Amino acid sequence: MATEKRDYYEVLGVGRTATDEEIKRAYRKLAVKFHPDKNPDDPHAEEKFKELGEAYDVLMDPDKRAAYDRFGHAAFAQGGAGFGGGFHDPFEIFREVFGGGFGGGIFETFFGGGPGTRTDDRRRGSDLRYDMEIKLEEAAFGAEKTIEIEKLDTCDKCHGSGAEPGSRKTSCPTCAGRGQVVSSRGFFHISQTCPRCHGAGEILEKPCQKCRGEGRVEKLSRIKLKIPAGIRKGTRLRSPGNGEAGIGGGAAGDLYVVVHIKEHNIFHREADDLYCEVPIPFSIAALGGEIDVPTLEGKAHVKVPAGTQSGQMFKLRGKGITNVNGRSHGDLFARLIVEVPSRLNPEQRRKLEEFAELCGDENTPMRKGFFDRAKEFFK
Ligand SMILES: [Zn+2]
Ligand SMILES: [Zn+2]
Repeated sequence: MATEKRDYYEVLGVGRTATDEEIKRAYRKLAVKFHPDKNPDDPHAEEKFKELGEAYDVLMDPDKRAAYDRFGHAAFAQGGAGFGGGFHDPFEIFREVFGGGFGGGIFETFFGGGPGTRTDDRRRGSDLRYDMEIKLEEAAFGAEKTIEIEKLDTCDKCHGSGAEPGSRKTSCPTCAGRGQVVSSRGFFHISQTCPRCHGAGEILEKPCQKCRGEGRVEKLSRIKLKIPAGIRKGTRLRSPGNGEAGIGGGAAGDLYVVVHIKEHNIFHREADDLYCEVPIPFSIAALGGEIDVPTLEGKAHVKVPAGTQSGQMFKLRGKGITNVNGRSHGDLFARLIVEVPSRLNPEQRRKLEEFAELCGDENTPMRKGFFDRAKEFFK
């Protein structure tokens, strides 16, 4: 070993009869001073920080402390008094002592005095799902929508703290503000959420009467959502922080909005392409002409050649939906349905009969081909 291991009491600067509270206070002060994030230019800081974590780990644990008092560092050497498993990660210890994630204002919390509010997963509000149906036009061009949902929201009487206005919160005596209680079973240390404060590290002197100390109440919320142009069905939009409020000031969950698109009475959508059926009079199909085809932006004129058959598809390039990335456009496919007049007046009827007489078989190309193929069935 390169250097002699320092005495744990000396590392923390406390006497051999120091109480847990004194050890904790000493650790807090020194760990903040030597945290590597605060001392990026000092290579010794991390070493000191680790040494502090180890000392704290041992002296805060009654079994380990007793072994250390009897055997010194030998108690933790491999094959020693049964603590060969090593020590807790120094950064984990730091997080546990200060609560919350590092960088989330720990130093502020520390210098402000006291453990402050712990926010962790157990106190975070649930994520919510909301199914929203929008029109095809809204999906194509984007929209701003306001939705109303009944959800657990921050209590306006206590502003989410759960404490009756005027009353205070006090450090939880069961876990000494750590939110966790550690029990030892042999070599194992089991860390559990404190049963009294449920991980909050503090208890309410007087719970808020409106929310019974939970910090949140059921409320109708109006939430604004921006629907991006080109959105497809089934897309999940995340609205951060608009889920359920957290418990006792914990972080809010997120709201996930699943987008559904209403059936349109003219257009059918496939990816970014649109499909529609356009009925045309059979005279235009036969003679050719111009027809109006609906698009999402209004009508478009399409030239139909003479002799157009029913079911023929016309492509209107770029008249589909603009892709959600904004870089490409779908097409619009118009399927023409040739409509046969259902009621003829006497004059129309006479003209059509004349037309039929003039036609023979030459002017019905599909029919002619069909009968050629089907000849043997008509013998
Ligand atoms: Zn309240
Ligand atoms: Zn507690």
